[in-house]
Amino acid sequence: MSFTLHVDAVRWRAGIRRVLDASQHEGGPGLVPVIKGNGYGFGRGLLAREAAALGVDTIAVGTYAEVPDALADFTGDVMVLTPWRPFGSDVVLDDRVVHTVGRVEDVAALAEVAPGARLVLEGETSMSRHGLDRHELAAAVAALGDLQVVGFAIHLPLVGAGPAEGHLREAESWAAALTASRLETSTLFVSHLTPTEIGQLSSRRPQLTIRPRVGTDVWLGDLGALSVRAEVLDRHTVGRGERVGYRQRAMPRDGVLLVIAGGTSHGVGLEAPRSGSGVLNRGKTLAKGGLEAAGLALSPFTIAGKQRWFAEPPHMHVSLVFVPADVAAPAIGDTVDVAVRYTIATFDRIDLD
Ligand SMILES: *Cc1c(COP(=O)(O)O)cnc(C)c1O
Repeated sequence: MSFTLHVDAVRWRAGIRRVLDASQHEGGPGLVPVIKGNGYGFGRGLLAREAAALGVDTIAVGTYAEVPDALADFTGDVMVLTPWRPFGSDVVLDDRVVHTVGRVEDVAALAEVAPGARLVLEGETSMSRHGLDRHELAAAVAALGDLQVVGFAIHLPLVGAGPAEGHLREAESWAAALTASRLETSTLFVSHLTPTEIGQLSSRRPQLTIRPRVGTDVWLGDLGALSVRAEVLDRHTVGRGERVGYRQRAMPRDGVLLVIAGGTSHGVGLEAPRSGSGVLNRGKTLAKGGLEAAGLALSPFTIAGKQRWFAEPPHMHVSLVFVPADVAAPAIGDTVDVAVRYTIATFDRIDLD
């Protein structure tokens, strides 16, 4: 049984190449592909090998737990996006690991336990996640000891709160702080700046090497190159009122119950309740009638051109999906389209062809 990601490899790789080329300015070292978590649905191993084939010199992972695999699958540098902490129990010290450090006391502590280690200093942005305050930059530089700084890093929000220029202005002010500091690096790693913003920043600060760190737009930038198909494993005719599944829910109409590959272990979840949960909307839903009013949730499986309803919440490996009698339901062994959130999806198989 299979919940499979099909990749049109030629198209997918061409899209990746376009993103890489768009970020490449005057033969600089360019983009750092981010390979973290579930590997954006592909798995981190597959992506690390793709990155190696692309010829990039550095990849970024999310956590120290992800470092050992990355070192095995990729021969260049591995940047860790989660900041180093003195209490980290899984820290990997290796010449190819680039740590991220965002507190003055952590700079001093890392210099103590791993003199010679390579790192980027991170500045705190409007993200308010991690990083040094601008006023701490000088103290951080003073605490470096024998550590080797390979760059400065900033991570910006995905959406701008202020004017359209907000991101660029924030990046610029850090670029200015970096230029004014006594930090011996001219490399600025940025997250979530657009290629246009990067171009503008590069032209305003030609002495800096701007290196974007990008995951989603590299690996999932061309969703048309990807399709997810799930096999129909079983099929039962059901009558209105017939009870099915773990929860023994009554079926709302006559129809067909499909057992389809793809459950919680694959990242198939019950759709979050839509904004229709308020009293007024609930009233509207009841007025509309239909399967939503019967308490069913919309599944991500598409059959005969429409998303169909879960008969009950997804199981670990399969989902029970109700198809009304007037719709031509697929046969056992057929496959159906599924919409997935790639950052939480796990596939039984990935076919690159
Ligand atoms: C996850 C992450 C990225 C990559 O984010 P995408 O939206 O997947 O491109 C870049 N920088 C940092 C610090 C991150 O945590």
